[in-house]
Amino acid sequence: LSSSAPLESKSSTMAPTEQQYDYIVLGGGSGGSGSARRAAGWYNAKTLIVESGRSGGTCVNVGCVPKKMTWNAGTVNETIHLGKYYGYDIPEGTKFNYKYFKETRDAEIKRLNGIYERNWGKEGIDLIHGRARFVEPKVIEVNLEDGTTARYAGKHILIATGGRPNIPTVPGAEHGITSDGFFEIEELPPKIAVVGAGYIAVELAGVLNAMDVETHMFIRGEQFLRKFDPMVQKTMTDRYEAAGVKMHKHHSGFKEIKLIRDGKGADRLIKLISNDGTEMEVNELLWAVGRAPEVEDLQLNIPGVKLGSTGHVVVDEFQNTSVEGIYALGDVTGQAELTPVAIAAGRQLGSRIFGPSEFKTAKLSYENIPTVVFSHPEVGSIGLTEPEARQQYGDDKIKTYHTKFTNMYYSLMPAEEKAKNPTEMKIICAGPQEKVVGLHILGLGVGEMLQGFGVAVKMGATKADFDSCVAIHPTSSEELVTMR
Ligand code: FAD
Ligand code: NDP
Repeated sequence: LSSSAPLESKSSTMAPTEQQYDYIVLGGGSGGSGSARRAAGWYNAKTLIVESGRSGGTCVNVGCVPKKMTWNAGTVNETIHLGKYYGYDIPEGTKFNYKYFKETRDAEIKRLNGIYERNWGKEGIDLIHGRARFVEPKVIEVNLEDGTTARYAGKHILIATGGRPNIPTVPGAEHGITSDGFFEIEELPPKIAVVGAGYIAVELAGVLNAMDVETHMFIRGEQFLRKFDPMVQKTMTDRYEAAGVKMHKHHSGFKEIKLIRDGKGADRLIKLISNDGTEMEVNELLWAVGRAPEVEDLQLNIPGVKLGSTGHVVVDEFQNTSVEGIYALGDVTGQAELTPVAIAAGRQLGSRIFGPSEFKTAKLSYENIPTVVFSHPEVGSIGLTEPEARQQYGDDKIKTYHTKFTNMYYSLMPAEEKAKNPTEMKIICAGPQEKVVGLHILGLGVGEMLQGFGVAVKMGATKADFDSCVAIHPTSSEELVTMR
């Protein structure tokens, strides 16, 4: 890596000398890396990444990547359980060596950290490990690992510092873990409480249940995934219950959390005391109640970068903050908190600042972003939910198409398995042309299915366009081009 040595502070009274950069990127996660590589790799901007944690950020280290690997592990277990319906004689008590899986997963992530750093090095990007803060409007300071302090001045500075999990203000809340801690678990707890109803709660509860952990979900409402289409909320909540997740709906919140016994796996014991007085003992407690932007240490008051009411950095459509030459993107802005969104916004910004004139108005379109919840089974969604579409276009302009069926994979299985594993799809169309303005699918393999349909929706496809494509048989996707 072409990490250039920063100039150190010469004395405690003199400000350290600044090293000059065209582009300083705070945070080497999805967005920061994407933007830095575009700026340096394509346009030769002298670029510095400052990263306080592990290279690659949330997605690589404690997000998408280890999550999907763990999701895959849960899926293997589900397949083993279902193998008997295809005639496989799988011995009862087939064991899952979680420790082996975790070590293999950690090693792969370490490899990815190295790939990130090597790619930055190849593109001539300097990397400094440490926590950045503004000391002047265009100057940042970093405490280096050797105890010294260095300063860097940038013509352009990008804030791509991401976010971190929230922990509720309940006495004893610290005895629980968040998604970060989930990836450190070395022994699976036999019984776990998952608090929350969004992406992370649903994904991790699904994974744990699929790995035969007794999983209790505590949600504030009747259903989870409340920002998704009502079809998704209802079918997935029902599906989780059918698959054995113990749902605690309309939960009143917790009064206190007590650590009864410290330890790993079954040795750990935590008591949950709810506001309604009910108590439960579990081996682990996972908070999945949303995330907050990582801004506290940045001293954003020095340049005067404005924050919104939720604490996220306020940006315009071009990722400009309230201060000229300072930009922000990704989770720290709270805009569609997804890795490909941060990467795409970062690349567009890199091109806009450092690219030729045709990119001077480059920006990411935040409309029609496809997203998948890696639940069991997966959920895919793009565009408007039905209530959003009805509100936006008016009831009389909306036509919906809906189907619910059993994927052929389950057709050789008993009725109870079929009932537990629905596939369901909804297409929401607007106006006389029946433009597809929302698409919501759940079931086996929909995570892979959505990307292609996402292209069609992004291009403005109508229901007739969907229908004009010949079906691929036998698949689940064919339903999307044959719905009546
Ligand atoms: P990050 O990737 O978080 O990078 C920010 C970086 O900034 C971090 O490395 C941090 O160490 C560093 N940093 C913070 N403060 C400072 C500072 N002061 N100085 C220097 N460095 C600093 N998205 C998907 O698209 N698909 C998924 O399947 C998916 N699964 C997820 C699962 C989980 C459990 C979680 C938590 C998230 C998941 N996400 C997923 C969301 C995705 O990880 C984020 O949207 C994405 O990582 C955001 O990228 P970012 O660049 O904004 O921030
Ligand atoms: P979300 O915003 O998805 O969900 C947070 C949930 O927490 C809400 O559904 C809310 O549920 C619940 N909640 C909030 N406060 C409390 C409370 N005090 N007690 C109980 N429940 C509470 O956040 P996540 O942290 O799950 O995920 C953060 C973001 O990361 C996601 O929005 C997504 O953008 C991204 N992500 C993407 C993934 C993917 O692409 N597959 C996977 C994981 C994360 P309610 O209001 O219904 O009560």
